[in-house]
Amino acid sequence: MIDRYSRQILLPQIGEEGQKKLGNSSVVIIGCGGLGCIIATSLVRAGVGKIKLIDRDIIEYHNLHRQILFNEEDIKNQLPKAVAAERHLKKVNSSIEIEGVVADVNYFNIEKLVAGADLILDGLDNPETRFLINDASAKHKIPWVYGAAISTSGMTMNIIPGKTPCFRCVFPSLPLPGVIPTCDTAGVIGPAPFIIGSLQSVEAMKILIGAKEINRGVILIDVWEGTSHRFKVSSRPDCPTCQGNYEFLQVQFGIRTTILCGQNSVQVLDPKVESLSLEKLATYLKSLGEVSYDEATLRFTVDNHEIVIFPDGRVILKNSLDESLARELYVKYIESHHNS
Ligand SMILES: [Zn+2]
Repeated sequence: MIDRYSRQILLPQIGEEGQKKLGNSSVVIIGCGGLGCIIATSLVRAGVGKIKLIDRDIIEYHNLHRQILFNEEDIKNQLPKAVAAERHLKKVNSSIEIEGVVADVNYFNIEKLVAGADLILDGLDNPETRFLINDASAKHKIPWVYGAAISTSGMTMNIIPGKTPCFRCVFPSLPLPGVIPTCDTAGVIGPAPFIIGSLQSVEAMKILIGAKEINRGVILIDVWEGTSHRFKVSSRPDCPTCQGNYEFLQVQFGIRTTILCGQNSVQVLDPKVESLSLEKLATYLKSLGEVSYDEATLRFTVDNHEIVIFPDGRVILKNSLDESLARELYVKYIESHHNS
């Protein structure tokens, strides 16, 4: 196995000692789009011992210009990104552990998903989940590498609990929906995530090895202009996350459940949701379970759970008084649809 890594072991910054540390490391990559594909490719080839890749989406044609792990066959097979990535990467390096997880990362599951990891890597396309990662990182003292790419530019920053400012020190609050451009509205060219994902991968290797020269601050790069800038960042004394107030992990900021005793059912309410298009939801859920709907209700059956959904956003789990199950199913099937 040394031969496989001989060319990077030659680097004095890595050496055999560094290679051993990489082999004993465990990382979680959240999001397997443009950034995640580059990060996963780099770290699998570099010999990071344990790699978990999490993504909720299916591969589409408009992903292929930048998501280097996927091909047309994956699309024909309707593969989720996490499944296709795991299959392809296992052929690249069979000496490490690679696990693809098809999941929507949310406040309900994030702590479980990152438990035991030495490092979290951000391959996301939405700010909400980054605030979640930041809270989970601070709470469990797991460093993470932020990365974002859009249009022709991107940025990255290392967040190491106790050593650097956190994400929320730099970006205090969640932007309003629609304010931030996304790849769907502004577009993106492949080299933008390629460069940022590469920088994230190098920082990951440095953090895992324990190198002193890790980047402290924000690096901003425009691949079209060929420019790069570094910004210093500082801790904010009133940052809730740094004070141990993990708002994004707290359930009270999200959905509420109520037991409807007489009906042997649990109702789930999400204060963020005022109305739902049953037609759109039906289209989304059709591939996941059994769906029937009319103007008033949508009935969805999956794994023997019967769920009824109303246009005002109310969701009812029938034949159960299990609030945590109701919440879990809501997050898995209905909230993931809002985010899709
Ligand atoms: Zn902070």
